[in-house]
Amino acid sequence: MKTCNIKKSTGVKALLNADVLIDNRAKYTISVVIIAFVHGILLLSFVSIGAEIMAVYNCFSVLSYIVCALLAYFKGKYIEAFLFSYAEIIFHSLLASIMLGWEFGFPLYLIGLIPIGFDMAFMMRKTVDGTAVSFISGFSATAVFFLCRYISLNYEPLYMGYPQDVVVGFYMYNVLCVVVFLFSYSYVFYAENKAAQADLEDKNKRLEYLAGHDMLTQLCNRRMMHGILDDYDENGRSFCVMMFDIDFFKKINDTYGHDCGDEVLRLFSGVLTDVLTDGGQVCRWGGEEFMAVSECSMDEAYRMAEEIRKGAERISVDYNGTEVKFTVSCGISERTDNMRSQDAVVAADKNLYIGKNCGRNCVIR
Ligand code: GH3
Ligand code: MG
Ligand code: MG
Repeated sequence: MKTCNIKKSTGVKALLNADVLIDNRAKYTISVVIIAFVHGILLLSFVSIGAEIMAVYNCFSVLSYIVCALLAYFKGKYIEAFLFSYAEIIFHSLLASIMLGWEFGFPLYLIGLIPIGFDMAFMMRKTVDGTAVSFISGFSATAVFFLCRYISLNYEPLYMGYPQDVVVGFYMYNVLCVVVFLFSYSYVFYAENKAAQADLEDKNKRLEYLAGHDMLTQLCNRRMMHGILDDYDENGRSFCVMMFDIDFFKKINDTYGHDCGDEVLRLFSGVLTDVLTDGGQVCRWGGEEFMAVSECSMDEAYRMAEEIRKGAERISVDYNGTEVKFTVSCGISERTDNMRSQDAVVAADKNLYIGKNCGRNCVIR
């Protein structure tokens, strides 16, 4: 019997293997907390170099990010938090360039923002046109990048005269933040895609299983059996058909209830699979009818069908202390040259009908 069996790692291993679907709420809350932290370091740095306007501005931005993180985590407002972060980073880069100049490296954040717009668009795809969002946000960041360059070429910054190591220190810090940010964000993007793909494959396998199997007995269903019969028509090999039908099954349902009937079906499918171990295929053809095909001789098919019939006779369902017994009838046929598979099925069905008219609990060939 085919089952879905997808192995998944868990915990840290899953994270390292990029095997997890990362929850948007967690992703954006962590992102906002990290951005708040980066701004916090900048706040201290601005204080230490006496850039008061930037320091005051950063106080507000850190506070705003804390509010954003809380809203994202507790209220699920991560789209709003994300939009705010995007706009704030653009504004921050522009303001810092005006105040401190190009060499401090703040416009680098604008380039780092470009891929984020695409991620944001993906997240908002259910409500807006993703392509427009990603391009508009990316172009906005790029336009501000050039605006910073223009301003720095044509105007003196407000705060000037810092020693070279201060300028390089800021520049390196900003480069580091952008690089780490791009690396981690790309990794998350990769992990999300990998996990989504694995999830899709998992679901496809499950759907494939559901499409070809009967959920009560876990045997393959009529649809899948038609595929097997089509294969026989293509390859031309001969095989035998065994068509089983539980005798007076309606009576079992009527007397003991549908659940008891279901248990009989499950039990009988176990008898079928026990006997038809290798080289045979068995399906639930419909209701209380089962069909088996095997590439064997008629004598062998008859022997197996008898074994199944006797097996059914031997077993019983324990229904609230009552022993519920049942029997089956079977018709068999052989698909030989120049015959279609369907003709063999019809022939087996006819034999089954004869068996029903001959008192049931028998195998007719
Ligand atoms: P016969 O010996 O002539 O085959 O008689 P029968 O009562 O077995 O045949 P009939 O076709 O009259 O009744 C079949 C019953 O099978 C009717 C239907 O309600 C029942 N049945 C079909 N599918 C299921 C199922 O999944 N579970 C249960 N419990 N009953 C089912
Ligand atoms: Mg029937
Ligand atoms: Mg029946």
